[in-house]
Amino acid sequence: MNPSPFERLERLLPQETLAHGPLMAEYTSMKVGGPARLMMDVRDAEHVRLALDAAAREGIPVLRLGNGSNLLVADEGFEGLVLHFGRSFSRVTLEGESMTAEAGAPLMGLSRLAGEHGLTGLEFAAGIPASVGGAALMNAGAYGSEMAEIVTQVECLDGRGRRLRLGRGEIGYGYRHSRMMDEGLTVLSVTVALRRGDPELIANLVRDYQRRRREKQPLSYPSCGSFFKRPEGYYAGALIEAAGLKGCRVGGAEVSRLHAGFIINVGKATAADVLALMRHVRETVKAASGVTLEPEVRLIGVSGE
Ligand SMILES: Cc1cc2nc3c(=O)[nH]c(=O)nc-3n(C[C@H](O)[C@H](O)[C@H](O)COP(=O)(O)OP(=O)(O)OC[C@H]3O[C@@H](n4cnc5c(N)ncnc54)[C@H](O)[C@@H]3O)c2cc1C
Repeated sequence: MNPSPFERLERLLPQETLAHGPLMAEYTSMKVGGPARLMMDVRDAEHVRLALDAAAREGIPVLRLGNGSNLLVADEGFEGLVLHFGRSFSRVTLEGESMTAEAGAPLMGLSRLAGEHGLTGLEFAAGIPASVGGAALMNAGAYGSEMAEIVTQVECLDGRGRRLRLGRGEIGYGYRHSRMMDEGLTVLSVTVALRRGDPELIANLVRDYQRRRREKQPLSYPSCGSFFKRPEGYYAGALIEAAGLKGCRVGGAEVSRLHAGFIINVGKATAADVLALMRHVRETVKAASGVTLEPEVRLIGVSGE
């Protein structure tokens, strides 16, 4: 019998890096999502290149997964190859004021490392539970700063596994937006430029940001952080609160009472619960204020409409 496209793909990849049918709920901060057909624990760039090239030839969809803190995957799961950028692909090098990290390195760890070396620029990232690859792609930001201000180079692979080095001016950064997102590029490593700073001031700023998060965000529940993008001239959370939606629930998904911009998993929420609540929030806010909320969360296998 002829091997299937997945079997042909698998033969090219090291078996010890592959998992069959892992539940995406275990890899996402919202704790929902069905099984992935195949997942590769990324250990080196060469296997990512091989995987992308083979998946393109075989017509197998690819999902890049960092820390899963901004992903909502369907209950049916993902019928394709998940490239997981985690601990096994997270080496970091620091040269003077320049830090380069493989895509799976935790952003919070980079923020800590920068502080320990008296380098300023990554304080805003102290509470963002991202991988550096996901954060570079999403242009993650907080408290008036964002990745776009510090990223100087992103090393990527395109859909066929060709290597690209994008300098600052080529990344096309916008609000929670980048060229890597538009072109489906896979981020391998990210270089950021930091500056010398006062270690005490850096530590104080980090502590202040972390305190503000603990006070204002429902950190004890699974979530994807702010579910919606900030609409121009408004705050999504304020619009949702004004529409009377705090505490609104569908199944195990709830609009947080602490921060209405967060949808939290208060029980055994399914992706369908979260989506139904998301749609209800969008419709209600649109009717109340005329503003259309767009999800910041990346929806996989489901539609936002
Ligand atoms: C409690 C909490 C607080 C948060 N606070 C903030 C905040 O203050 N500011 C903010 O901006 N966000 C925040 N977020 C959202 C989230 O952390 C960011 O969007 C983050 O950048 C996602 O990174 P990740 O590694 O988890 O990416 P994932 O969720 O794994 O993926 C997000 C997107 O990036 C893509 N991706 C991931 N890795 C790669 C790669 N190597 N190459 C190509 N594509 C890739 C995925 O395909 C997907 O499209 C918060 C989330 C939570 C749960």
